[in-house]
Formats: sequence, C-alpha cells, structure tokens
Amino acid sequence: MKADRKFSIQVFRSEGLTEIRFRGRITEASTEAMTEAFSDPVGLVRLDLEVERINSFGLGVLTKLLAASAQNHPIEFTRCSEMIVDSIQILGLSRYGRLISFFSRYLCDRCSKEDMRLLDIARDLVVSADGSEVRAPLYRCDCGGSLRVDEALDFVTEHPPVESSKPSDG
Ligand SMILES: [Zn+2]
Repeated sequence: MKADRKFSIQVFRSEGLTEIRFRGRITEASTEAMTEAFSDPVGLVRLDLEVERINSFGLGVLTKLLAASAQNHPIEFTRCSEMIVDSIQILGLSRYGRLISFFSRYLCDRCSKEDMRLLDIARDLVVSADGSEVRAPLYRCDCGGSLRVDEALDFVTEHPPVESSKPSDG
C-alpha cells in the first residue's frame, strides 16, 4: 500500500520535552520536513522512530540533525524499528543519544510464528552483572507456545538504563 509508506513527522512540545514522531519512509523527500521539525527544540529531544524504512540519504540528514541538536539537548531514541536499531549500531548514533526502546523480532518455539514486540530497555530487559547476557521477557503465543526473542540483544549493553533522564536547563 503506497499510502502507508508516506513519510510523516509530527512535533509535540511540552515543558522540558520535544517529541518528534517519524512514520513511513525516510528518504530525500523527507529532508525539508525533518529540518523543520528539528529547528526549534526545547529540553529533552525524544525521537519516536517507528518507521518503515530509512534510506542512506535519510540517514545522512538525520545524522546531521542529531549532531547539531546533541550539542544543546539530551536525545532519546524510542520505539525504534529494526532498521533504525541497525543504523544506530552501524553509524554509532549512540554518541548523540540514548536508546530507550525498540521493536524486537520474536519467534514462537512451537508454531514458528514471527512477531515484533516493543522492548523498553529499562523496564523489560535484564543484563547480567558482567554484561555478557541480556535477558528479554517471554510472551505467550496464541498457539499456547512461547514467543522468544529471536535476535542478539548484546547491543543494549552500550545503552545502560538510567533511572531518570531529567532534561537539562540549558
Ligand atoms: Zn505459536
């Protein structure tokens, strides 16, 4: 469905927080709207990145905007789709902000159904003391089996949870 792929971006400003919500596909056609969305942030900048796709041009634009905003604002990445999580790893975007939550691939051990689940690092994941193991919750499948996380989650050890990320005054 073409309509579903359409890019959209919304900005929600409240006291000490600017939430920027991305949807659809981030491409060169998204540049102007993204630049506009990042133009006047206040406080903590929280990106909601549940997007369908991002191409290399879109990643380039996003990286530049992040680099500029990160100089004056703490940044959080939330609801990141699989492709965004990969991009954060590959491009080292964690130097600009903190990964808070992401969609992870799950697989049923009984009927092999695949599913995506939103995992919040602080709420849902347990990292072993030596950082070598990351445990994710199990979910029940409709078939009665268990949905288990079906990808390596060791990257979350680069994003240790914090109790509260209070926005700075600056
Ligand atoms: Zn199942």
